[in-house]
Amino acid sequence: MNYRVLLYYFYTKVEDPAAFAAEHLEFCKSINLKGRILVAHEGINGTVSGTVEDTNAYMEHMKNHPLFEGIVFKIDEAEGHAFKKMHCRHRPELVNLSLPEDINPHEITGRYLSPQEFFEEMQREDTVVLDVRNTYEYDVGHFRGAIRPEVETFRDTPQWIIDNKELFEGKRVLTYCTGGIRCEKFSGWLMREGIGEEVGQLHGGIATYSKDPVAKGQLWDGQMYVFDERLTVPINQVEHVVVGRDHYDGTPCERYVNCASPECNKQILASEENEAKHLGGCTIECTKDPRNRYVAKHNLSEEYVAEVVAKLEAQLV
Ligand SMILES: [Zn+2]
Repeated sequence: MNYRVLLYYFYTKVEDPAAFAAEHLEFCKSINLKGRILVAHEGINGTVSGTVEDTNAYMEHMKNHPLFEGIVFKIDEAEGHAFKKMHCRHRPELVNLSLPEDINPHEITGRYLSPQEFFEEMQREDTVVLDVRNTYEYDVGHFRGAIRPEVETFRDTPQWIIDNKELFEGKRVLTYCTGGIRCEKFSGWLMREGIGEEVGQLHGGIATYSKDPVAKGQLWDGQMYVFDERLTVPINQVEHVVVGRDHYDGTPCERYVNCASPECNKQILASEENEAKHLGGCTIECTKDPRNRYVAKHNLSEEYVAEVVAKLEAQLV
């Protein structure tokens, strides 16, 4: 375990994000980091992996940089790199929350809650907890009882909240996300829209909550989805309740796979056995895709594929 994964963000003013990103990429490569970093006029957001020595060098560099004074890193121990390459790109905004009107968290944002405060307050009667991630992230793990907006893509979440305003009426609303960056803006948006009685956010996100010596990740069920090769990481240090459900038969499952159709590529939860039964396709159309990656990977014959497809189609009627 002499590798680490760093997760961080910082809202600050970057004058020339394109130039900064190009220079920063070279620096990251020079110290052997791999990962994904976004730079925008409003700041930086990244996940990088590297050896303890190299990640230390990176944190040191960032903490001493005048633009990033006060930056906080969430550190995970790892057995190797969590990425294949190093990317550093510039974007118009750090996170795309699809808000009708952008929010500056320096002007309006929810009350910051430490992991311990969040743990206590989420158990109060007059409080609702709102997950501000994507539904596929929620499905493999979330805070017990948290609200899951019923939307196809995150883009539709603000409208869903406006349409379901009554869920929040007279309540204290607590938001949470992976590292805290989404909440900075989203909690500000909730306040501006007058949603709920009061708005708080989990400072440092689930990643910080999981390591807190008092909260210990409690009241988190399942795993946390992460955007690197690990796919999921454990959070609750006290108990482990599986909430993920197999895409095919609904049994408890925490194993993510990508649909075998390259066109679809949807991430689903599936046991190895069920994946094999469906040749990795999330629907029969995906199973039948002539470019099915599961078929190619396992070198399956045309006869065998036809047999499986016939069986699946028979089940449908
Ligand atoms: Zn599919």
